[in-house]
Amino acid sequence: MSGNGRVLMCAPAHYGVEYVINPWMAGNIHRVARENAVKQWEELRGRLEELVDVELVEPAQGLPDMVFTANGGFLLEKKAVLSRFLYRERQDEREHFRRWFKKAGYEVADLPGDIPFEGEGDALLDPERGVLWVGYGMRTDLGVHPALAEILDLRVVSLRLADERFYHLDTCLCPLERGWLLYYPRAFDADSILQIEQLVPEDKRIAISDDDAAAFACNVVNIGDHIVMNKASPELKEQLGRAGFNVIETPLDEFMKAGGAAKCLVLRLTNHAPAAAAAATSVREGIVTIEGHLLHAGLLEKAVDVVVENGGAFQVLHFDLGKQQSSVSRAEMRVVAPSEVRINGILSQLLALGAKRTSAEESDAMLLPAPIDGVAPDDFYASTIYPTEVRVAGTWIPVLNQRMDGVIVVEPGPKPVARCALFRTLAKGDLVVTGSAGLRTRRKLPKPALTEEHEFSFMGAGASSERRVDLVVERIAWEMGRWREQKGRIVVVAGPVVIHTGGGEHLARLIRNGYVQALLGGNAIAVHDIEQALLGTSLGVDLVRGAPVDHGHRHHLAAINTIRRCGGIRQAVEQGVLTRGVFYECVRAGVPFSLAGSIRDDGPLPDTQMDLIKAQDDYTRLVRGADMILMLSSMLHSIGVGNMTPAGVRLACIDINPAVVTKLADRGSLESVGVVTDVGLFLSLLLQRLGL
Ligand code: NAD
Repeated sequence: MSGNGRVLMCAPAHYGVEYVINPWMAGNIHRVARENAVKQWEELRGRLEELVDVELVEPAQGLPDMVFTANGGFLLEKKAVLSRFLYRERQDEREHFRRWFKKAGYEVADLPGDIPFEGEGDALLDPERGVLWVGYGMRTDLGVHPALAEILDLRVVSLRLADERFYHLDTCLCPLERGWLLYYPRAFDADSILQIEQLVPEDKRIAISDDDAAAFACNVVNIGDHIVMNKASPELKEQLGRAGFNVIETPLDEFMKAGGAAKCLVLRLTNHAPAAAAAATSVREGIVTIEGHLLHAGLLEKAVDVVVENGGAFQVLHFDLGKQQSSVSRAEMRVVAPSEVRINGILSQLLALGAKRTSAEESDAMLLPAPIDGVAPDDFYASTIYPTEVRVAGTWIPVLNQRMDGVIVVEPGPKPVARCALFRTLAKGDLVVTGSAGLRTRRKLPKPALTEEHEFSFMGAGASSERRVDLVVERIAWEMGRWREQKGRIVVVAGPVVIHTGGGEHLARLIRNGYVQALLGGNAIAVHDIEQALLGTSLGVDLVRGAPVDHGHRHHLAAINTIRRCGGIRQAVEQGVLTRGVFYECVRAGVPFSLAGSIRDDGPLPDTQMDLIKAQDDYTRLVRGADMILMLSSMLHSIGVGNMTPAGVRLACIDINPAVVTKLADRGSLESVGVVTDVGLFLSLLLQRLGL
């Protein structure tokens, strides 16, 4: 018996590629050369028998992948954690491995629930560091990592696999003797790479090339100073040699057809518990319920995307399906994430979708003081546009000044107050909501029948019919009429394109007729409007003839110069210099406007606020209390306004670029509508509808 321990192999009597469950198998069905496979396997076994004792599990007919014994389980001392295969094709292997482990005297542990775990394929012991590296994202589920830590009494480090060619951890990482680590960085997500780099010093890491990875150079069996593998490039061999390893190559291309090589064909039977090991995992979980039109409004899909895209995993614990189109469904989900920061990020996003933490988990919000002026505690909760409530001293209180991309500050006391704040307004010691506990949003869930009207398009390729655009313009006109009657607030955000496209006179008429209560823009819309009012051109183009005029570009500068001489737009109106146009109407009607500066600005006009913090504050003030916001062809200013606007305000976004409309209108709420069209045309239709 060898002093180097024992491994388990399974003869390839029934091996072949008979289905496709990984990218390597595609195109290889029935393409294994059976005799060659047997020869390669025998050679591998021979090589290993020089180093360790090799034990065999009986191959089973109809289970062609049983040859890859690494996936049968994970063994530590006398404990065997049995695998639960993800794919049906391999699930019957489980009982064969169970029988073998039992017969060999192992205490067999089943993981709780029915979550997939694929043995040593995804769980690799690093005795030097006393950790168990465990992969997830392809086969093994993140949800089993805490149970593994518990059962094995080990510290589990969770690594997310990001390239489906490297679907098991042992295809892209291998802890070696003396603290070395062989790995293929591109197979992991950024967080996992960071974890590897934090735990393994640079001079102990061997990162392999794309070519070596494709030849399964991480899928190795390391016994003492020997490394048995399919193949390594001369560079990798030299690197391993310098690290004190002797590389033994043995061709395994017949097994690579099924997506495996040396390590996949071998299960270690003699893993020893590292000294001073203790159960630990950074995996965190939360339970949420989500209710609404989960299927046809796509809410469940969105929730699941949030979890998976942020590196988490989920399990649906209960699902009550509403049977009618109009009835509501309810799902309870267990969500796991690899770290505290990740789970908080995921739960916050789920809360924004309208999910609730289950009542058992309800607790007060976690408040931490701002460490210095203008800086939030690290784990701050980022606010959204949805009406939010915070639990303080057992009571839910509404958050004031709701906006997105802010933080929530709580002023404690007998009557605590919660409000959204920006980093720059934080004072040292302000109590900021952190994590995701004690938070809930009240959100109107989209109804399936209405989501369809979310975005309209005309003039674009494959666009909706003009009739439909006509309908949405009519609807916007109707709403504007209603708000005017009710003395509501309509805020217009507009870019210079409004003037170029001949929409200036329409916008001026809207203002004159009381449809606009505030105008937000930048230097350009004002300059172009004033240039047109004073000289009949916009950026030197005669808008009546649609042609550039001689020395027209000078007009633009001359307009700025004139207003500068007057001291500002209001002064120019009062002095009788500016007698028509959008801004003239604003001054006449007492409609407040705010012009936010930018790096592109010529002049600027004296009215343009070049201190951007002041400009943001001005915008916020004018947006507050808005009932409806019309966003007319200004990506920059419209996005800025979108961020400071709470849900519930009706937004209409008009832009010729569908991507801009989608970004602005896609707030996941009923209140936004996008129209992909020329803004001049839109305004003219709108005025027709309003009868102006
Ligand atoms: P922006 O790129 O943020 O937005 C322009 C938007 O108009 C885009 O989304 C575009 O898709 C859309 N658009 C273009 N043609 C359209 C059409 N026919 N119909 C509908 N939509 C159309 O640029 P912006 O808001 O115009 O300007 C950004 C900043 O630069 C502002 O602060 C502005 O004041 C400043 N600026 C200054 C000057 C100047 O001072 N001379 C000139 C231009 C811009």
